[in-house]
Amino acid sequence: MLQEALLAWYEGAKRPLPWRGEKDPYRILLSEVLLQQTRVEQAVPYYRRFLERFPTLKALREASLEEVLRVWAGVGYYRRAEHLHRVSQAAETLPRSYEELKELPGLGPYTAAAVASMAFGERVAAVDGNVRRVLARLFALESPTPKALQALAQALLPEEGDPGVWNQALMELGATVCRPKRPLCPACPLGAFCQGQKAPERYPKARARAKREERLAALVLWGRKGVYLEPQKGRFQGLYGVPTFPEEELGARARAFGVEPSYVGEVRHELTHRRLFLRVYAALWEGEGVDPKAKPLPKLTEKVLRQAEAFLAHAGVVPFQDA
Ligand code: SF4
Repeated sequence: MLQEALLAWYEGAKRPLPWRGEKDPYRILLSEVLLQQTRVEQAVPYYRRFLERFPTLKALREASLEEVLRVWAGVGYYRRAEHLHRVSQAAETLPRSYEELKELPGLGPYTAAAVASMAFGERVAAVDGNVRRVLARLFALESPTPKALQALAQALLPEEGDPGVWNQALMELGATVCRPKRPLCPACPLGAFCQGQKAPERYPKARARAKREERLAALVLWGRKGVYLEPQKGRFQGLYGVPTFPEEELGARARAFGVEPSYVGEVRHELTHRRLFLRVYAALWEGEGVDPKAKPLPKLTEKVLRQAEAFLAHAGVVPFQDA
């Protein structure tokens, strides 16, 4: 039977991850939120680091958003940290049912189902990108709708046993065997049941989306005590960064700060749907500035600051004389 084959395989093949077998809903939620947009290898150290600082939902509730973002810094997609913080404000303890979990900030059907099944044993299927791919291949479906996949996944859930383990087994198969490219069909425990294995990469059809390229300038101002940083908007809301703008605005910006910046190099940065090219300019500035290590920064800003620092070191200039 398909279910038995998958569960037996999972028992022997699952990767030893720190959240395996976890029953604490807060820890499960954190691991799921991290894994939404971060690869496992990168998520593991952040998971540990986050729990060291915020071991419980209560600890998270008592922390400021800025502190949470600082611990999250580097792993990207800061909205996730913001949502976690809002969840901690919204609930003393996490609710126990799928329907209630779905109502919390930032929890879609997938995350709610993962937490409900793994922490509370609710029989609800969790369909993430991995499960979507496995099911589409198993049943040779080119363009299944989310609703159809959810129904299919629900129908496959074993009547007995731990639904959380079943959900993890399907995801693990997708992550390690039924991979997006070159799936390992000969080693797959579901080979005997799979209708798509003759041409697995046909299922499901890729949703192609070209990356947009954007060219901007960044201005690094070294003040007497640190760097000029301003609160960010949009995707980096809650973080701090150096001013970035279309390059033709450089003259006006420099005049506003009373500086004459030098070009110090280019930084390239990949976001999910955008590729950024930043021409970096830097100048010594009369203002104070702040220590960048004390603020939560997006990766992009860290790269820009490193570029500017390399230029400084090369020129033999020592900034932050008053720090
Ligand atoms: S046989 Fe191949 S395509 Fe089918 S589920 Fe297994 S790995 Fe995926």
